[in-house]
Amino acid sequence: MPLRGNDLYIYLVCKILYPLLSYISSISYSGCLWKGADEIVRRCYPVLLAFQVDYPEACMLTLVRQNHACPTCIARKFDFADLQTRRPERTVKDMTKIFYHARDLEINGDNKKAEEMLQNKGLVNIEV
Ligand SMILES: [Zn+2]
Repeated sequence: MPLRGNDLYIYLVCKILYPLLSYISSISYSGCLWKGADEIVRRCYPVLLAFQVDYPEACMLTLVRQNHACPTCIARKFDFADLQTRRPERTVKDMTKIFYHARDLEINGDNKKAEEMLQNKGLVNIEV
């Protein structure tokens, strides 16, 4: 089935944009030889200043359920009003553990429990 909408966006970011940004980041200090339009090869140091996204894009990129959780920390919707309490960061390592745990539950036939666990953590069930 062809990818559409948000799934296509997530796929493109993970498969094209993220590797490209990683490559730019890796050569930003050491430089790399590039041929310019004038055919002269120069050592270039590409710099990525920022990659900014809004809340819906951040939720798509982090596989967080929009309007249910924060994409950068573990705050849930009911925590949004409390701006003074600092929550632990949402890390790739922790979220990966949750996804693998949910996947194990699905493999064992407990789809409902897997979905509940992902919802409680504010995550969506999309494999990238
Ligand atoms: Zn947050």
